[in-house]
Amino acid sequence: MTSKQEEYNLVVVGGGAAGLVSAYIAATLKAKVALIEKHRMGGDCLYTGCVPSKALIKTARLVHQIRRHKDFGIKSAHCELDFSEVMERVQSVIKKIEPHDSVERYTGLGVECIQGEAEFIDAHQVKVNGRILKTRNIILALGASPLIPNIPGLDQVPVLTSENLWDLRKLPAKLLVLGGGPIGCEMAQTFQRLGSAVTLVEAGPRLLPKEDPDVSDLIAAQFQKEGITLHLGTEARAATRPAGNPCMTCQTAAGQSLDIPFDAVLLAVGRRANTRQLDPSRLNIELNPNGTIRVDPYMRANGQNIFACGDVTSALQFTHVASHQAWYCAVNALCAPWKKFKADYRVIPWVTFTDPEIAQVGHNEQSAQEAGIPYERTIYQLDDLDRAIVDGDDLGRIKVLTEPGKDKILGANIVGSHAGELISEFTTAMKRGLGLNDILGTIHPYPTFSEANKYVAGNWKRDHAPEKILNWLEKYHGWRR
Ligand SMILES: Cc1cc2nc3c(=O)[nH]c(=O)nc-3n(C[C@H](O)[C@H](O)[C@H](O)COP(=O)(O)OP(=O)(O)OC[C@H]3O[C@@H](n4cnc5c(N)ncnc54)[C@H](O)[C@@H]3O)c2cc1C
Repeated sequence: MTSKQEEYNLVVVGGGAAGLVSAYIAATLKAKVALIEKHRMGGDCLYTGCVPSKALIKTARLVHQIRRHKDFGIKSAHCELDFSEVMERVQSVIKKIEPHDSVERYTGLGVECIQGEAEFIDAHQVKVNGRILKTRNIILALGASPLIPNIPGLDQVPVLTSENLWDLRKLPAKLLVLGGGPIGCEMAQTFQRLGSAVTLVEAGPRLLPKEDPDVSDLIAAQFQKEGITLHLGTEARAATRPAGNPCMTCQTAAGQSLDIPFDAVLLAVGRRANTRQLDPSRLNIELNPNGTIRVDPYMRANGQNIFACGDVTSALQFTHVASHQAWYCAVNALCAPWKKFKADYRVIPWVTFTDPEIAQVGHNEQSAQEAGIPYERTIYQLDDLDRAIVDGDDLGRIKVLTEPGKDKILGANIVGSHAGELISEFTTAMKRGLGLNDILGTIHPYPTFSEANKYVAGNWKRDHAPEKILNWLEKYHGWRR
């Protein structure tokens, strides 16, 4: 058990989003905290995830806009891409953000930052660089890594993952993307726009299976319009090199064999928690069948003093979810045994940065149906929105689910330009118990995309107009004429 002689209140292992936020909160609460990171502070989000992907997406969107010049009355516009420069820009973006997550910053905040690989001796001792840290609590923020599928011959062909993609300096002429989830979709569209001929192979029947089918269909149609070759319901079976050129042999849902030649294959078929080096029995923790760490509603992994957060635990692998969980880990660790808080997952937004963007908070139709939750659906199409028409960016719609007969929001799904920004109004509304009437009664500046939130609320109101009162008013005004 713990004793007063222990060196630390908290040792955090992993310096990605989850670990950084845990350590930050602990230091703010004046705890003695050590943060151990074996590679780079900032983790996946900064170096191989959100930041580089969104930086690359920015360039690809710009290229796409330039190609659309005629839509805006511009006779000629030419863009010549230097892919190597594009990738250097990605690195310079990382460099600019790096100080936010740096050892210097965290040391200044009161966190002892230790560079090294942590080993776990028991529930109160962590070894790093030959030194043993004794601690009352441990937070496991070990992250996840790209899943490498078991496809024969993969070791014979040029393979990219979200780890090494950012080292590319030559654009692959033919890029094969395996996986139609958010990472596969974001990168397929990006590389197609940058000039690769992209083929996307997805084993399931549609892209983005967590989305409602209408979203998958809209994105698939947009991808095909942009020239991406889609093979849905198709499984990659073997990588070969006939005549020296990489090729993927796939099997379609109909059982046909399909050979897809490529220059590089991007694996985006999922991520696996970094728990392979972990001996769960030493810490008295359990792993789920997919390798993630099992936690209780208080984010405890051993029911006591070991906590876990971020991608190492989560089905929702997002930076903001990692930070959200980190708060519960740090606060529950440091407030025990006096107070503890259950992690609240009711209102979690997320965004897939395809073009158009897809943003979600709460339930979509698919998850509501799976959970057996009754709902009403209200839709507003963006091709009706003045600002979207002005910008030539009117593809998409807002879909809101409400409790039957009430304006209480169960979830919102936005497909369209700025969806990632627009979703926050619904997130706040859900978090604070505001309904569609509140959004409708709020002034939104004209002409903005945010008006779409008000208009979807207006559509709901129209569908729930008080018919009896309106009939009475009609008679009243008739009598007054
Ligand atoms: C291509 C891509 C795009 C993404 N885009 C988005 C996005 O737009 N928005 C979003 O919200 N999320 C996005 N994500 C997901 C996001 O990056 C992750 O959810 C987030 O980084 C998880 O943070 P984490 O702290 O749990 O893990 P990580 O960032 O992986 O950090 C874990 C850290 O633990 C360290 N570590 C592991 N074991 C040890 C040990 N034994 N000793 C010491 N250190 C150790 C690792 O070196 C690593 O730095 C994206 C991911 C990818 C791959």
